[in-house]
Amino acid sequence: MKCPKCGNDYCKMSSDTKISGKDYSIGRGICGEMLFGPAGFACGFTDNRNINVDAYWICEKCGYRFKA
Ligand SMILES: [Zn+2]
Repeated sequence: MKCPKCGNDYCKMSSDTKISGKDYSIGRGICGEMLFGPAGFACGFTDNRNINVDAYWICEKCGYRFKA
């Protein structure tokens, strides 16, 4: 895979795992856990949780990251 920025041919594959949600807060999860136990903690994750795994390439020369 060629780096689109510097043309270097040595790019390595990497990936990111992101958890994003509209307004999930750890505080809310912990609060739920105190009230309801582990099930309450899980409640903190309801509705808007998204887990995204992004695969991308990293150029070993210039460090440029681009989508696979
Ligand atoms: Zn590069």
